[in-house]
Amino acid sequence: MFHNARLRLTFWYLFIIALISLSFSTIIYRDVANELERGFTIAEQRLRALSIPSTPKYKVKLLLEDELNAAKHVVLLRLFIINGFILITAGLGGYFLAGKTLQPIETMVNDQKRFVADASHELRTPLTSIKTEIEVALREKKLNTKSLQQLLKSNLEEIDKMKKFTDYLLSLSRYEVQGKDLLMERVNLKEIIEEAQKVNSILAKGKHILIDLELEKVEIKGNKASLVELISIFINNAVKYSEKGKSINIRLRKERRNVIIIFKDEGIGIPKQDIPHIFDRFYRADISRNKETTDGFGLGLSIARSIVDAHKGEIKVDSKMNEGSTFTIILPQSS
Ligand code: ADP
Repeated sequence: MFHNARLRLTFWYLFIIALISLSFSTIIYRDVANELERGFTIAEQRLRALSIPSTPKYKVKLLLEDELNAAKHVVLLRLFIINGFILITAGLGGYFLAGKTLQPIETMVNDQKRFVADASHELRTPLTSIKTEIEVALREKKLNTKSLQQLLKSNLEEIDKMKKFTDYLLSLSRYEVQGKDLLMERVNLKEIIEEAQKVNSILAKGKHILIDLELEKVEIKGNKASLVELISIFINNAVKYSEKGKSINIRLRKERRNVIIIFKDEGIGIPKQDIPHIFDRFYRADISRNKETTDGFGLGLSIARSIVDAHKGEIKVDSKMNEGSTFTIILPQSS
C-alpha cells in the first residue's frame, strides 16, 4: 500500500518539476533562437555592406543560414541534456522525499494496527472466559443456586476487568487527543498527592506496604483530575511491583521554576533492556512473570506520559533489579 503511494507521490513530484523545467526550457530556447536570428540578420547585412566581390549574395545567405541552424541545434541539444539530468535527479530525489514524507504516516498506521490488535486481544481473553463458563453451566442438567452464584461472581470479575480496561483506553485517548485542551488552574499538588495516596491505601494496606510522604506545600497550574490519576498510577505501580512489607517514599519539592515529584520503591525493579519501552502502550516488562503475579494492561505509564506531556513536563526512570525503582516527574510550575 505504502509502496504504491510512494510511487504515485514520486510521479507527481516529477510531473511538477518536469512541467516547470520544460516551460523554462521552451522560453529559453525561443529567446535564444530569436537572439541568434537577430545576430545573424545583422551579420548578413554587414557582409552585404562589405560586398565581398568573390562571394555571391545568395551564397552568403546560405552559409549564414547553415551556421544559424547549427547554433540552434547546439542550444536544443544542451537543453535536452540539462532537462534529462534534471528529470533523473528529480525522479531519484522525489522517490527519496516521498519515502521521507510517508514514513511518519506509515509508522502511525502500523502503531494504530498494533493498538487495535492488542486491544482486541485484551478484550478477547475475558470474553472467552465468560463464554466458556456460561456454556459449561448450560450443559449442566441440575444447576443449583450456589453454582449459579459462583458463575455470576466469576463473570462479574471478568466484566470488571473489561470495564477497567475500557476506562484505561478512554483515559489514554482523552489525554492523547485532548491533552492540550485540559482545563488548567492553580492546584495544590501536596493535596493531590495525599488524595491519590488515600485512593491506593487499601491496596497498600493489603500488602503491608508503608507509604511515606515528604511533601512541601507547592502549587502549580494544572488539571486536578488528571494529576490525581497521574500520581495514582505511580503509587499503584509501586505497590503492585513490590513484595509484601516493603515501603514506598514519595517526595515533593520545588526547584527553581519546576516542581519535582519522586516515587521511590523497594520493589522488583525493571530490567535495563525494558526501561526504554515501559512507556509504550501495552508494554509489560518480563511479561510472563508480571502476568502470573500482577494484573495490568501495560497502559498505566502510557497514560502517565500523556498527562505529563499535557503539563509540558518530563519523566525520568532509574531502576535496579531486586532493589527498586525511582520515577521522577518534573513539572513546570506554570504550564
Ligand atoms: P501495567 O502496570 O499495567 O503492566 P504500566 O504501563 O503501568 O502497565 O507499566 C508498564 C510496565 O513497567 C509494567 O508492566 C512493569 O513491568 C513496569 N513497571 C512500572 N512501574 C514499575 C515499578 N514501580 N516497579 C517495577 N516495574 C514497574
